[in-house]
Amino acid sequence: NKQVILKDYVTGFPKESDMELRTTTITLKLPQGSTGLLVKNLYLSCDPYMRSRLSKQDRLSYVDSFKPGSPMNGYGVARVLESGNPEFNPGDLVWGFTGWEEYSVLTATESLFKIHNTDVPLSYYTGLLGMPGLTAYAGFYEICSPKKGETVFVSAASGAVGQLVGQFAKLTGCYVVGSAGSKQKVDLLKNKFGFDEAFNYKEEPDLDAALRRYFPDGIDIYFENVGGKMLDAVLLNMRLKGRIAACGMISQYNLEQAEGVHNLMAVVAKQIRMEGFLVFSYYHLHGKFLETVLPYIKEGKITYVEDVVEGLENAPAALIGLFSGRNVGKQVVVVSRE
Ligand code: NDP
Repeated sequence: NKQVILKDYVTGFPKESDMELRTTTITLKLPQGSTGLLVKNLYLSCDPYMRSRLSKQDRLSYVDSFKPGSPMNGYGVARVLESGNPEFNPGDLVWGFTGWEEYSVLTATESLFKIHNTDVPLSYYTGLLGMPGLTAYAGFYEICSPKKGETVFVSAASGAVGQLVGQFAKLTGCYVVGSAGSKQKVDLLKNKFGFDEAFNYKEEPDLDAALRRYFPDGIDIYFENVGGKMLDAVLLNMRLKGRIAACGMISQYNLEQAEGVHNLMAVVAKQIRMEGFLVFSYYHLHGKFLETVLPYIKEGKITYVEDVVEGLENAPAALIGLFSGRNVGKQVVVVSRE
């Protein structure tokens, strides 16, 4: 059983060598009396929140750290080989929490969802139809209270969450602008996802000026994925009674000391509602989310870009690539296609 192991806790920017591939021998059998599942992992999801799991627990983390010397885990898609749980049968496809390894014995079956719709790529359950998709849906519709005609700004806009937020905003009838870190990503935003405008934040020496250019009358809704300097510039450009969905702040994840935010007074002066949220509180909406999104996919009204890497041995590089923007779209790792 090939596994990805965290070698030791990480400080600063993670490196491929912080993780290693280990091969162990296992018998492909569920332990006697187990109420869990023996699964074969097919697709693994690389997600930014995993960065905090590479470090020793800190006060701002909302998930447990990985255990050095043990296999890592995260979201993925798997096939059930054996089941000790009457709700699952051998052959079922599931998505949810699984190991960064070829085969896993999963005991926390409450965090697994059965896959019923298989007429879409299975890897979509790591992104569009899985945790990041639900994050975009809950964050945009529940937190941002969007209305037709409003102006929306999305940062890290070409990523797993952002590309979908932009498309939801267009379906709602909003004007939407996205920022991303390369020309290729900016082109995708404008030409594939239908953003009205997009810009490369790395080429903008003055983010405040860039935002003023795209939002001469201000921003009603900011879907926050990056934090730091972008958040500061956005605060200056928000409209009265604007909403900010604080989804994540990836620019801060590798810093030992977080950057200060200087323009927070805007929250008071402009009566902004800034609300943090975690997707874990919205899993009750997953059924409704699928009912909404699956028809859009079939009608071609929602599209999704994935960055698919082959092989468990390439998972560490894929994970750390999120923090330099190497991924173009949702980062997926293929462990096995069958
Ligand atoms: P992405 O697919 O967007 O991948 C991460 C992207 O972040 C990179 O491709 C890169 O794009 C950008 N990025 C990396 N470093 C920086 C930096 N220093 N400054 C600005 N941008 C940077 O990831 P997701 O869509 O999965 O996640 C987006 C955000 O949503 C993250 O903050 C994540 O933590 C958060 N999240 C929150 C959840 C919740 O429950 N609240 C659930 C899921 C995600 P680029 O080339 O454009 O710089």
